Amino acid sequence: MFSRFRTSKLRVAIVGAGPAGFYTLEALLRAEVPIEVDLIDRLPTPFGLIRGGVAPDHQHTKAVDRAFELLLSRPEVGYWGDVELGRDVHLAELRGLYDAVVLTIGAPRDRRLGIEGEDLEGVYGSGAFVGWYNGHPDWLELDPPLDGAPAIVVGNGNVALDIARVLLKTPDEMAASDLSDPAAERIAAGPPCQVTILGRRGPLQARFTLAELRELGQLAAGPPSILMPAEAPAFPDDAEELADARERRRAGRVLRLLKTFQETPGEEARLRFRFFTRPLEALGEKRIEALRCRSTAFDAEGRLVDVGAPFDLPCGLLITAIGYRSEALEGAPFDAAQGRLLAQGPRLEPGLYAAGWCLRGPSGVIGSNKHDGDAAAAALLADVRPAAKPGRLGLRGLLRGRRRDWIDREGWRRIDAAEQAAASAPAPRRKLISYADLRQAAQEAEQE
Ligand code: NAP
Repeated sequence: MFSRFRTSKLRVAIVGAGPAGFYTLEALLRAEVPIEVDLIDRLPTPFGLIRGGVAPDHQHTKAVDRAFELLLSRPEVGYWGDVELGRDVHLAELRGLYDAVVLTIGAPRDRRLGIEGEDLEGVYGSGAFVGWYNGHPDWLELDPPLDGAPAIVVGNGNVALDIARVLLKTPDEMAASDLSDPAAERIAAGPPCQVTILGRRGPLQARFTLAELRELGQLAAGPPSILMPAEAPAFPDDAEELADARERRRAGRVLRLLKTFQETPGEEARLRFRFFTRPLEALGEKRIEALRCRSTAFDAEGRLVDVGAPFDLPCGLLITAIGYRSEALEGAPFDAAQGRLLAQGPRLEPGLYAAGWCLRGPSGVIGSNKHDGDAAAAALLADVRPAAKPGRLGLRGLLRGRRRDWIDREGWRRIDAAEQAAASAPAPRRKLISYADLRQAAQEAEQE
């Protein structure tokens, strides 16, 4: 009886409990086949970028976690937090235990500029810096210097806008956020006197979206200003040269808003956009003191070239927001040059699938992962039939045999309750930010 029951269920492990993992889970459950799905994450807490990447003052974006919570409550679903692939269990072992494995491990590593001085104190990638202010336990020790010195954020995407906004907002403006305690204290005590968002190309090539850019025009810090190097092309009038209609609309709106910033700059603007500027070298003894740059322009063939003499922009904090990479994983094909899994679609091989940033690269909004999750689930359901694999019982036995604890759904609920109880309104939660505190909170009520 028991073994017949076991053979009729599809047993799936999803590694990575972020948006791509949850959208894959949702699609698998929607298929209404007999199924058991285990979500495995190396962090004690679920939700990936929703918790650790989305800006702490963007609670409306984080609200998707309520739908994910409902999925987590389903009886077919198991949560295995604090379990790391490659450390606690290997991919080959998971593939032996489950009918199928889906990798949704994201792109957690920062791309680097590759310039001299990038390892000076005060220079960070956006993954590290955003992780720090979002209370990601890996970045607890980052301790960035915040003492009023000017900051530069390199990159013209939405992550650069998030970072500039978080650095410039006052404690009152951040009151309804879940900014981590250390970040709230440090930023309030020594906010940068000025933040410059640096783009190596121009306003037309910026990747910003309108809503995110508009927020920067509404800060208590005052309106931004726009700096175009003398050698750079003139500020574009419109986005008509872009071939893609959707991109043309987005870029056109962004250009119009940037133009209003240009026409009505704040006096001594605390936030500046500086276009057509390429970082050459981070200067300083121990900590960064300035960023050496060159101005850029497009040549006749449309290539970006350096123009004019190098110049130095003083700064005490440099954050690069220039994209992310995934990590190679034993047993999965990997494209080292692109920093992501190597596959044409969600099927890496029959029985092994992938979705989200680890497959597609670091682009798009949270909802873009829904399409990825649907595609991974469809490929999996087309390929795989139940084969009497041990599934979650097998994983439990394997981890117990290795004396590895894990945090289950109830453990996460205890963490969640403890964080919400510790918050002062209007903050939604006060995050626990060390592995030790998270593990303790997961167990505490269990022992009461
Ligand atoms: P992104 O949108 O791809 O922007 C990356 C930026 O880095 C580009 O401006 C790029 O310039 C620049 N860059 C790359 N290499 C560089 C180099 N060597 N030197 C100087 N600049 C360099 O990436 P992102 O900002 O990390 O965002 C990732 C995704 O998350 C995006 O799709 C974004 O929209 C999304 N996101 C959305 C929100 C939101 O909706 N609120 C918030 C955060 C993130 P080039 O164009 O010249 O290469």
